[in-house]
Amino acid sequence: MQTFVKNLASMVGQEVEVKGWLYNKRSSGPIAFLELRDGSGWVQAVAAKSELDPVVWEEIEKSTQESSVVVTGKVAKHPKKATVFELQVINFKLLQLAHEYPIAHKEHGPDFLMENRHLWLRSKRQWAILRVRDAVITAIGEYLHKENFIKVDSPVFTPNACEGTTTLFPVPYFDLGTAYLSQSGQLYIEAAIASVGRCYDFGPVFRAEKSKTKRHLTEFWMMDAEAAFVEHEDNLKIQEGLVRYIIRYCLTNCQEELKILERNTEPLEKADKPFTRYTYDEAIKKLNELGSDIKYGEDLGNDDEGLLTKDSQVPVFIEKWPKSIKPFYMKRDSVNSDLVLNDDLIAIEGAGEIIGGSQREEDYELLLSRIKAEELNEEDYQWYLDLRKYGSVPHSGFGIGLERMVRWITGVEHIRECIPFPRTIGRLRP
Ligand code: ATP
Repeated sequence: MQTFVKNLASMVGQEVEVKGWLYNKRSSGPIAFLELRDGSGWVQAVAAKSELDPVVWEEIEKSTQESSVVVTGKVAKHPKKATVFELQVINFKLLQLAHEYPIAHKEHGPDFLMENRHLWLRSKRQWAILRVRDAVITAIGEYLHKENFIKVDSPVFTPNACEGTTTLFPVPYFDLGTAYLSQSGQLYIEAAIASVGRCYDFGPVFRAEKSKTKRHLTEFWMMDAEAAFVEHEDNLKIQEGLVRYIIRYCLTNCQEELKILERNTEPLEKADKPFTRYTYDEAIKKLNELGSDIKYGEDLGNDDEGLLTKDSQVPVFIEKWPKSIKPFYMKRDSVNSDLVLNDDLIAIEGAGEIIGGSQREEDYELLLSRIKAEELNEEDYQWYLDLRKYGSVPHSGFGIGLERMVRWITGVEHIRECIPFPRTIGRLRP
């Protein structure tokens, strides 16, 4: 029966069968050290020529990097390292002798690695990132369910934009004209909260923005959450609770992965404290003091986000932005109607914006006037306006970019490593 490497610690002395791939091989005369990986982890298998059938030893000798193999062996404690276990090989079966593997155990340039993304995923580093990504997804689901949210999926084909029309990917759609790939499921989950109260979606979204940065993808995964009867203040509390939960979850469950990634976890540990808050106005003033030439009414760039958080141990909320630079559905601040009740959450360590959220306008007339003022097609938004006709309630929500969060937690520099098959302006393959 197949045994998983991650479970070997509890099987010392037993004979097990590990199915996987040969990651690396070193031989020293009659002894071969085989580094095996099976998806759940890595283990060293030690094969002694004198104890094996000559046919088996021959198979071991000819096996190449990334050959698929089945190894039977006895689990033993590493002679020197207390927490490491190894296999003493009893039998070795080569399932497929791998061709010469293009990714050798040495440095390769990023372009080469991206071309070979389908193979690069097998490296220790990529394995660790994939697992942290999975942990972030799990943490999000756990936290939101604890907070009474359920998952409700939103469509990918949509008739209109959520965040402006310049960054949409059009798709021909039968006799109905042009559909667009979704930029966010927000409007749809706003409909669903009137059924289930609190919900979230989690799926790929698409932005045709020509941003060539280390934190923009054209296809990324977004989790949008929406909650009925939640106003601005509580919206921020839910976001902070979520991010701190993700941090704790990853620190507890991804120790091995973060070690492989050589992530200094101290800043993450320290970030699990109440987050800082600035109003947009305060943020601009502070940035100007720090030397930025950003003007009131402008969006923060990457450098501004870095500057604002450079001395902070915790992520920073920037709330209450001018309505002129934010989408039509955001609710105005009752104290100053030029502002909206929204927030961007900026992570530390240069990771940049990870969340955008807001309280939504729930009044039919005000929302209609915003749609008209922005010259949006009223007909497209008729169903969305309906939500304000039939039992409208105060409500808020936010969207978190999965790869941005993974990038921060892993400390990986470029977002392209935070999704299995990245799509950027210059990359559609593999
Ligand atoms: P930015 O200003 O950084 O381009 P945005 O203001 O367009 O982001 P939102 O529309 O508020 O972002 O989207 C919500 C979240 O989705 C962001 O906080 C971020 O985590 C993520 N996100 C947005 N655009 C991208 C992208 N192109 N690639 C990866 N993640 C993104």
